[in-house]
Amino acid sequence: MQLIDLKAQYSQLKTKIDARIQTVLDHGQYIMGPEVTELEQKLSNYVGVKHAITCANGTDALQLCMMVLDIKVGDAVFCPTFTFYATAETIGYAGATPIFVESDDESFNICPNDLEKRIQAVIADGKLTPKAIVTVDLFGLPANYGKLQAIAKKYNLKLIEDAAQGFGGDIEGKKAGTFGDLATTSFFPAKPLGCYGDGGAIFTDNDDYASLLKSLRIHGKGANKYDNVRIGINSRLDTIQAAVLLEKLAAFPGELKARNLLASAYEQALGGKNNIKTPKVIRGYGSSWAQYTLVSENRDEIMTNLKCVGIPSMVYYATNMHQQTVFKDLNQDNGTFPIAEKLSKTVFSLPMHPYMTENDLNKIINATIK
Ligand SMILES: *Cc1c(COP(=O)(O)O)cnc(C)c1O
Repeated sequence: MQLIDLKAQYSQLKTKIDARIQTVLDHGQYIMGPEVTELEQKLSNYVGVKHAITCANGTDALQLCMMVLDIKVGDAVFCPTFTFYATAETIGYAGATPIFVESDDESFNICPNDLEKRIQAVIADGKLTPKAIVTVDLFGLPANYGKLQAIAKKYNLKLIEDAAQGFGGDIEGKKAGTFGDLATTSFFPAKPLGCYGDGGAIFTDNDDYASLLKSLRIHGKGANKYDNVRIGINSRLDTIQAAVLLEKLAAFPGELKARNLLASAYEQALGGKNNIKTPKVIRGYGSSWAQYTLVSENRDEIMTNLKCVGIPSMVYYATNMHQQTVFKDLNQDNGTFPIAEKLSKTVFSLPMHPYMTENDLNKIINATIK
């Protein structure tokens, strides 16, 4: 059994994906071929945003946002401490100081109240310039954008939505990828919409940001690649990956339904059992179920039981950003993240993908509540 069964998905989509890849091999436009443009149009339609700009991976997508917003040394950028490293890494790579924020214990997402406190503390301290907030749609559930957008506006901060895990999620039908001034996603194979290698994209309604991004991802190009008007990077999505994604995006709405059915089946079978807390989707919100993440004081015991019968489970994430070696010098490890620290000690994720068999599901449930 796999946490995310990519082979099962491929066996369903094989004919179509193989044909798409063959088309690229036939036309030979491996870099910025027609599939890239086609995918960008389809992504912007699906998400409901004016511009989708693809790039090499989800980390570059965040880095490109930092470049667009001119985030640099002396700036403060706020992000959740309970997240994947790239969220904070790209703030540091830009030269800015990441200011970590506590989690909400129900949604696992950034806590708006704590965010506001930390913004006020940075302002009072006067050493850094508050510039932006990077929110994360952790495990597929959009963050609390009603409150987060109001805070961004109040303090005149840019909002970057890291939807690497959130692609496909929504709030009242408005899709993840539309909630920030800029939003990013990742097409890493295990993400809700994944390719067969690395890939990423940035979403924005802002025309200026979009044209800047199209330059930055190709060596700061002007009229062409050999007319260089700014310092950029080399971060394009391969045409073959775009071809794979076109077929996967077509299958995505059906897969999202299957993920939701699986989440409901888990909820029914596991809710309230064996000292387990199941993930709650807030009313009006939709999750893309990038992970199905449980909380339990008996985590280690349950994970051992699963392992004994050949069922994989994982801890995302055992180490918060404020606890990472690389960020020790920031001295933010001062006991003010009790919720995030508790989560890192009690969360674990079960297999979650759209091609789960009834048999495997029953096996997982039985071993989890044993
Ligand atoms: C996966 C992930 C990224 C980085 O994406 P890559 O494509 O692996 O570079 C960034 N943020 C979050 C929250 C992620 O889960």
